[in-house]
Amino acid sequence: MNAFDFHAPSRIVFGWGRIAELGGIAASMGKRALLVWGSRTLANSETGRKIIDDLQFAGVKVLAMQLPPGEPDVAAIDALAAQVRAEKPTRDDVMIGIGGGSGMDAAKALSGLALDPEAASVKDFLEGVGTGRKITWPVLPTIAVPTTAGTGSEATFNAVISSRDPPFKKSFRDHRLMPKVALIDPQLACSAPKNVTAWAGMDALTQLVEAYISRKATDETQSLCIRAFWGFIPMLRAVDRDPCHREGRERLAIAAMRSGTALANGGLGLAHGVAAGLGSLKGTPHGLACAIMLPAAIEVNAEVEVEGTYLGWQSTLLQMTLQPDYEAPPPIRGERHRRLVQVIQTLLADLEIPTRLSALGVTHSDIPELVRLSQGSSLSGNPKPITEAELAVLLESML
Ligand SMILES: [Zn+2]
Repeated sequence: MNAFDFHAPSRIVFGWGRIAELGGIAASMGKRALLVWGSRTLANSETGRKIIDDLQFAGVKVLAMQLPPGEPDVAAIDALAAQVRAEKPTRDDVMIGIGGGSGMDAAKALSGLALDPEAASVKDFLEGVGTGRKITWPVLPTIAVPTTAGTGSEATFNAVISSRDPPFKKSFRDHRLMPKVALIDPQLACSAPKNVTAWAGMDALTQLVEAYISRKATDETQSLCIRAFWGFIPMLRAVDRDPCHREGRERLAIAAMRSGTALANGGLGLAHGVAAGLGSLKGTPHGLACAIMLPAAIEVNAEVEVEGTYLGWQSTLLQMTLQPDYEAPPPIRGERHRRLVQVIQTLLADLEIPTRLSALGVTHSDIPELVRLSQGSSLSGNPKPITEAELAVLLESML
């Protein structure tokens, strides 16, 4: 077996209604909370007010900040970092990020930037576009509270930061950015809009598929994926029909967290590479981009062998994502992945997610730039090596 390292939050607090414990947890970690809201709606809701009250009742001072709408960009993170530094942060402070991937990623980035003696821009830390600056000072401990089941950012040690001009979407990655506590209350996702639930769910599923077959996968990350695949598709359908379906919300929340742990330690692949490109070029929401690219990622990697799956990885996925009594097709070459792609395409149609890149405004003339912007650490994890020319042909065929 290959040697590996494995990083995860020190503590996972999981369960329906457990947001009520945030005050006590924060009080055990610091005297003041620097809280980033990813969603203005949640911040202004009854739940949002209760979260602030609970923190104050537990004796924690609160400095609340609001991330602007959309995925975090360099300007927004630098502005929030300036706001944090103006409050003279110390090692007695605890960061809290409440939101989807954006809110949690912003909190993680700020936890690393807060005590930087030179107050550098977050851009300096980004892979591929930064100056290679590294953290050599203490990082504030972070509590990550997801409000959607998707990115698994509560269990990763990177923060995805974008920029419109020049266009890029890159990671600030450091093991010390891993949240100390992931507080996962699946009930918080009940109020998410229908399309957010669908896109977030497809992000988690894509992360599980890509991490499972990634060339960087380990025995540990694959075991997380296998448990998370179990019944995934029926549960996503259940919350699509009924936003507060308790078992659906619970299972998707834990699957999303496992997808985050798996990708942080085991890498990703083609769909996430192109999703980063689509995000920077067209502003496509991350989960939507992943959903559109998932069938292609399955096709491209159809012939990849994954250790420990006796019928091929497509059969494992079919059985596990559908239901325990599903009978996988016989191991006829080509049949299993065709069936898996079919299952995903039916799911996308039912969730009203398009399958063509043209639906995102991508045109023939965008392809070279999209290929360039899709290169990065995600694509390098794809099990089948794919050249820029091959990627251009694939994307062209999806217009
Ligand atoms: Zn993702």
